[in-house]
Amino acid sequence: RYNKAERDKVPERRTKELDGYVGFANLPNQVFRKAVKKGFDFTLMVVGESGLGKSTLMNSMFLADIYSTEYPGPSHRIKKTVQVETTKVLLKENGVNLTLTVVDTPGFGDAVDNSNCWQPVIDYIENKYEEYLNAESRVNRRTLVDNRVHCCLYFIAPSGHGLKPLDVEFMQRLHDKVNIIPVVAKSDTMTPDECSHFKKQILNEISQHKIKIYEFPDTEDEEETKLHKVLRDRVPFAVVGSNTVIEIDGKKIRGRKYPWGIAEVENLEHCDFIALRNMLIRTHLQDLKDVTNNVHYENYRCRKLAGLGTDGKPTRISNKNPLAQMEEEKRDHEAKMKKMESEMEQVFEMKVREKKQKLKDSEADLQRRHEQMKKALEQQVKELEDKRRAYEKEKQVWEQANNVTLEELRRRSLEANSK
Ligand code: GDP
Repeated sequence: RYNKAERDKVPERRTKELDGYVGFANLPNQVFRKAVKKGFDFTLMVVGESGLGKSTLMNSMFLADIYSTEYPGPSHRIKKTVQVETTKVLLKENGVNLTLTVVDTPGFGDAVDNSNCWQPVIDYIENKYEEYLNAESRVNRRTLVDNRVHCCLYFIAPSGHGLKPLDVEFMQRLHDKVNIIPVVAKSDTMTPDECSHFKKQILNEISQHKIKIYEFPDTEDEEETKLHKVLRDRVPFAVVGSNTVIEIDGKKIRGRKYPWGIAEVENLEHCDFIALRNMLIRTHLQDLKDVTNNVHYENYRCRKLAGLGTDGKPTRISNKNPLAQMEEEKRDHEAKMKKMESEMEQVFEMKVREKKQKLKDSEADLQRRHEQMKKALEQQVKELEDKRRAYEKEKQVWEQANNVTLEELRRRSLEANSK
């Protein structure tokens, strides 16, 4: 869509009436035929705590038991971690084919600690963008399958107490990634007054928290503007789902039967189901796809190609000119080498210092031990000296007492032996 300023830039052209029939009036028919032949696809995601009637609503909305085989009811779901499950159905109406993919997130918000339970949802959405981006960059782009999530219905519990912190957190984290349409689940559990009060409260909180939900496009067509206003006034859509058909006066209607009456699903006086379904399928399917492509996917693409992570922070792969990048890498490498060199020098110096200190220590040690040994030896010498002196004295005393010297005694004994 052009905005007004952009549109004004287009140079004015003169209109030329043709004299005869050329045939391009048939162009819309060509486009129409081609589109019908190709068929349409749409991916709808439903998020909300289990038991809020997501599967019932999907079945009511597409008048088909989408979940009958693949999808167990809430009581059968035991896993408490967030899963992402997709169901594909081919819907046919008057020869037009719509391939609908419903993405459910069982387990969302069911745990005691729900921090990060939005992550599998974000991962799924971004994964589909990534797949599309990769497919677009391939040589053969003919078989481009669009599995991107075009709309996310966020189910709000009919508590009468506004949004829960998890609702706010989820929408804030997802609003720039996907078209969010908030719905009030099981609205037949509230009276009309309660419901309209609850809706106002939710809209207030949404604007307070600066959450951007899907907005109806501006249009210059008066009829469309009127239609958009009617739809806009019903946001957040209060829905009722039911898988039972009740017969009243021979007319079959989808509804929920209570002792005091019937809540009709497809009655705009009872709930906004029809408004939501018309909006999703009849009037705004293409705009939801366009906004997904032009705003959310484009945001993702820009962040990705600018080398930013999908959270807006820089990733390691940058998108610079390769020469500049090489130059930078070279500089980085040189700086790294210099740093390593100076570190090695420091280590070397430290080791030398340590070795010197060790040598000094062992020298002092040796010196000390040498001194000790010397002292011990001197002591021994002194002791031996004393002993010798004592012995001499004893010998002298003995020789005097026996009137013979020890030498004389030894000589006599030698002589006696030789005889
Ligand atoms: P999910 O876990 O969100 O998919 O919830 P289900 O669709 O399995 O529904 C859970 C229960 O709520 C079922 O017993 C439904 O019959 C009931 N339910 C579904 N939609 C509505 C509704 O609009 N109003 C009321 N009162 N009950 C509903």
